Amino acid sequence: MNPSLQRRLLVSSGLLLLLLGLAILTWQASWRSGLQQLQDESLQQLRQFTGHLESQLARYQFLPRLIARNQLLVETLLDPDNSSRIDLANRFLEDINAITGASDTYLMDASGLTLAASNWNGERPFVGRNFSFRPYFQQAMQGKLGRYFALGSTSGQRGYYFAWPIIHAAEPIGAVVVKMDLAGIEQRYSGHEAQFIVTDPDGVVFISTRPQWLFRSLQPLPEAVLSRIANTRRYPGRQIEPLPLDWLPHQGDEPTLLRMGPRPPASEYLYQQQEMPKAGWRVAILSPLDPVRRNSLVATGLALLSALIALLLLLLLRQRHRRRLERQRYAERAQRELEHQVALQTTDLRHEIEERKRTEQRLRDTQGELIQTAKLAVLGQMSASISHELNNPLAAIRSYADNARQFLQRGQTEPVRQNLERIGELTERMGKISSQLKQFARKSSDRIEAVRVEPVIQTAIDLVMPQYRQSAIRIRNHCERPGPLALAEIIPLEQVLINLINNAVQAVDGDGEIDIHCETQQEWVLIHVDDNGPGLDARAQEHIFDPFYTTKKAGLGLGLSISARIMDSMNGHLSAANRPEGGARFTISLPAASDHD
Ligand code: ADP
Repeated sequence: MNPSLQRRLLVSSGLLLLLLGLAILTWQASWRSGLQQLQDESLQQLRQFTGHLESQLARYQFLPRLIARNQLLVETLLDPDNSSRIDLANRFLEDINAITGASDTYLMDASGLTLAASNWNGERPFVGRNFSFRPYFQQAMQGKLGRYFALGSTSGQRGYYFAWPIIHAAEPIGAVVVKMDLAGIEQRYSGHEAQFIVTDPDGVVFISTRPQWLFRSLQPLPEAVLSRIANTRRYPGRQIEPLPLDWLPHQGDEPTLLRMGPRPPASEYLYQQQEMPKAGWRVAILSPLDPVRRNSLVATGLALLSALIALLLLLLLRQRHRRRLERQRYAERAQRELEHQVALQTTDLRHEIEERKRTEQRLRDTQGELIQTAKLAVLGQMSASISHELNNPLAAIRSYADNARQFLQRGQTEPVRQNLERIGELTERMGKISSQLKQFARKSSDRIEAVRVEPVIQTAIDLVMPQYRQSAIRIRNHCERPGPLALAEIIPLEQVLINLINNAVQAVDGDGEIDIHCETQQEWVLIHVDDNGPGLDARAQEHIFDPFYTTKKAGLGLGLSISARIMDSMNGHLSAANRPEGGARFTISLPAASDHD
């Protein structure tokens, strides 16, 4: 079996057992307490009932003794044939009976014959009847209080009899009897849930709030007892049969329980009894157990329900807790996953950045190398004219120096001074040329600053011009001094201008005009290099800035692409176009600088 299913089964059966245990415990506890309560309440009711019975008996007990003192009754006994006295006695007893509320009051002579009775005028008068067999009469005739319970032999009504002797000349000559009705007591208590029974010393029920239990015994009676009861004529015409009851087994001080009636539906009762020794009675209360059982059932049901609700709540809470944990776990997992992804991507990104940096550095290096190479190439191209430029002044210096020597020998100092002055001027010019070449060959300083463009244009022209002095080319600087201020690096800018001028010169092929203008347009400073050469064809317009694009035999095709990059590195721009009047226009754009920059 699957272990989780097994665990579930185990837990479920454990819970079931727990619930069962709880049910049993609750049932027992509420049953016990209900029984205890019932016991207390019924005992109280029993005492009340017994008290009531005793007070009733006490009320009637003294009546015959009082009545026996009446002279009329003595006289009636002494003269029993006097009908008018009997009549008086009858009326007297009737009055007394009415006043006391007794069932019957009557006068018996020494032989047990009833001489006068309160019911003389009734349907079944006692007058003329002999009750000498009744123990109460016999007790009274012995000079004692006679008391007895029996069914009336005439009326068939249950009654409790009290009898007192009438003494004349120290002899009992008769007895007064007061019969007390018991039905009123039953009626008074019949509304109770509990049932009351009163049994005689033989255990025969003669008072009961349940009429069907009357004249039945609590235990099956032996034959001898039954015949004795028949002899006393206590219950004439009644067959004494045992009640259909079972005593439920119990221990020690546990309450006595019994089951009454045919099974089913038998009713169960709590049985409690109390003795009434004077009357020789035993009073018992039978309290039904149904309410206790009902209450216990309800209590058990409620306990189970509460336990179930608590269990459900517990399950609900557990479920919620589990879900929360699950959500938390999920969130943590997601978080970890995310962090992992981020870490991975960060590493990738870092690698990418490092790679890009390296590439950029390589690019910068290569670009720098290219620029340098291009510069050297330009220098190479210019070397012929440079040596020419330097040889001319050198030759001139030599001839000035030779001349000066001759003037000195002649003692003419003035021409010597002039020659030395010329030599000085020429060396100054040579120094200038060499410093410009040095500057051109120098690597870029990466320093952008506010630069006047006009002097830069002039320097570029000055550097290029010596090569073309012999040709018919005219290079003109139209930029007016001091000229606009631009943000730029001087040397690279010079180099770009030299490139453009060289290209223009080559384009006009030895004879043409090159015009350089400058202007400011909004935040831009523009330098135009115009020529009147053939201009740019469609292919050139498309590829002119591509590296190694060249139309020249000995061309490298690097000049313009490097120049464009140099301009980009200065945050500027290089563009090419055809002039409407013919020829090409190359335009350098640079960010304008204010005077304060
Ligand atoms: P190179 O001068 O070595 O060919 P450049 O990059 O300087 O390399 O020039 C590339 C090409 O652009 C030249 O070969 C030429 O065809 C064209 N070009 C450059 N300047 C001009 C110009 N002023 N007029 C016409 N064509 C030009």
